[in-house]
Amino acid sequence: HMVTVRYADGKGWYEPRVEARAPIPMDPASAVLHYAQEIFEGLKAYTLPDGGVAMFRPDANANRFNLSAQRMAMPALPVETFLQSLHEIIRIDRGWIPEDPEGSLYLRPFAYASEVFLGVRPATEYLYLVIASPVGPYFSGGVKPVTIWVSPDFTRAAPGGTGAAKCGGNYAAGLSAQAEAAEHGCDQVVYLDAVQRKYIDELGGMNVFLVLDDGTLVTPPLTGTILPGITRDSVIKLAQRAGRRVEERPISLDEWREGAASGRVREAFACGTAAVITPIGTIRGEDGDFTVADGGPGEVTMGIRKQLVEIQRGLAEDPFGWVHRVL
Ligand code: PMP
Repeated sequence: HMVTVRYADGKGWYEPRVEARAPIPMDPASAVLHYAQEIFEGLKAYTLPDGGVAMFRPDANANRFNLSAQRMAMPALPVETFLQSLHEIIRIDRGWIPEDPEGSLYLRPFAYASEVFLGVRPATEYLYLVIASPVGPYFSGGVKPVTIWVSPDFTRAAPGGTGAAKCGGNYAAGLSAQAEAAEHGCDQVVYLDAVQRKYIDELGGMNVFLVLDDGTLVTPPLTGTILPGITRDSVIKLAQRAGRRVEERPISLDEWREGAASGRVREAFACGTAAVITPIGTIRGEDGDFTVADGGPGEVTMGIRKQLVEIQRGLAEDPFGWVHRVL
């Protein structure tokens, strides 16, 4: 199925509908096809041990959706409308949630400029939609570290750009870098900052953390060039609650490489909705490869992963009230 809600200047959001998923008629001059005024979110619905269905922190996705909207000169969507649209699609597509308790129903809310207009300015009409698609476990047969490629040329976002927004254009700009990573036998690209080509930004679809020898977690700060990941935020809050030190500060590739050699950096992991947390194995680049420790899943990484997954799945106490029950 799909949920749709229309928007027009002067009218606001109107005509919410749930209908069978079908092609959307589009005029060739629809603004989004030319200027990519489009934003999206991604989250999962999954089964709880008692048979209920839940989402993880959907209010955080709603807030990020509106930050993306603001950056892309699009109208904000009421948080209530966003949450209700997710409830609707889950209710009607519940049968698509996989039987596998580690599987889930991936939810994709998005909005785009539907106005038929060829001038370059923010559109006055938009369409918001939600579709859903079943996904199996990210790791079948155990957690496997990702190998990452340091893109020598491509950046993800410059200061003042759209890096903090979840807009389609960011991903379009990243496709060449991702293809380059694949050519070098890597699972994901890791972007360096656009200005000095020195500091770590993030992976193609995940945020990055290092674990230092004293147990401190270090992750790049939210300065507008990386996506503010909801998993990133959850990892920070859980670690701090457990009394672990967390530093949000620039990490240079040199610090990572030298720390791997000296033992100062003990573990590295990436995080995002799809994988939750995945260890980072080898880092490959034009200056050669390096690996943190033995490149296998580290103890701290796997401990945080277990804690977060158990909260999400309703198997452990939920101290922050993150699990949002739908059914
Ligand atoms: N960075 C990028 C570029 C992403 O696409 C994602 C996935 N949404 C993330 C980070 C992780 O964000 P989240 O934890 O909210 O899924």
